[in-house]
Amino acid sequence: MLFLKNYLKISANELPSRAGLLKRIPAVFSDNSCEEELWKIHEEYMGKYREYKTRIYCFNEDISQAKAEKSLLDLKIRIAERVIGNCHLCQRRCGVDRNRGEKGFCRLTDTSRYAAEFLHMGEEPELVPSHTIFFTGCVFSCAYCQNWDISMHPESGREVSPAELARRIDQIRLKGARNLNLVTPTPHLHNILKIIREISVNTPVVWNSNTYHSPEAGKLLEGVVDVFLADLKYGNNECALRYSNAKEYVETVTSNLVFASRDAEILMRHLVLPGHLDCCTRKVVDWTASNIPEIRFNLMFQYRPEYLACRYPEINRCLSRQEMERAIGMVKEAGLKDVLL
Ligand code: SF4
Repeated sequence: MLFLKNYLKISANELPSRAGLLKRIPAVFSDNSCEEELWKIHEEYMGKYREYKTRIYCFNEDISQAKAEKSLLDLKIRIAERVIGNCHLCQRRCGVDRNRGEKGFCRLTDTSRYAAEFLHMGEEPELVPSHTIFFTGCVFSCAYCQNWDISMHPESGREVSPAELARRIDQIRLKGARNLNLVTPTPHLHNILKIIREISVNTPVVWNSNTYHSPEAGKLLEGVVDVFLADLKYGNNECALRYSNAKEYVETVTSNLVFASRDAEILMRHLVLPGHLDCCTRKVVDWTASNIPEIRFNLMFQYRPEYLACRYPEINRCLSRQEMERAIGMVKEAGLKDVLL
């Protein structure tokens, strides 16, 4: 493996997680300030975070600084609470007030639930064993969703209590989990930040998502996420609209990935869809090789026609051997260096 070096060090407790750094940066702000004012303060403090991270990650300085009573992470939490009051956590930008119980596309209020939480042994080898938490609901509605029973039922599962879940995360990490793996996290960002605030043990945070978050959510994630486990599904907007009901997909996810790659590491997943080698796989692979080549890339052949895939005859089948071979050829031709097949 060529990349994910910082992640491996955090996992081995040779470096603090990014969120561990945020908790050490004191922040002065008023809870009553408007969102615009809070963003200005955030920008100033993020400069301090970047400097602090460089000293520790690049120059191996020791961190003796204690946790702050009110930190940059607390500021991010306050902003996230404001963002869901006119919700633009994802690029659907529904504008509903989730704090008052209103629901947008994802059908979630400010309450978060999780359907499962366990030590996952089936993720990429460098993540396993991975303490995986499956949150309910989703900002997409993929026709072929393999977790539709969770993603389409936001009201199911157990309600998140940040302190209780953080205690569990600490316990599992101390028992050997290599990371905290948050699945379908975007609409739960405000509560996830609260969970992370309560975590006591150094733990790398893996953001396991479709990366369809808003630019504002992307800014909040800087300094929180150690690895974006990014599912880049489509190479064009027509396929994204047809199968996931997502507009402006390519612009949204590619700009989010470029921004994320400036701070965090990326493990990209691409699930090859039957009949979508030229319109999606080739474009995803070529874009990645040209724009963010220093990432780990997982080419996935696990597609099965689940959920509503039977309504789309062109994807209502598994991949052929020939399609798998062509996809491998595309990755090799593009010259990606760190590929998991
Ligand atoms: S998270 Fe996305 S889908 Fe859900 S209400 Fe907010 S903007 Fe809408």
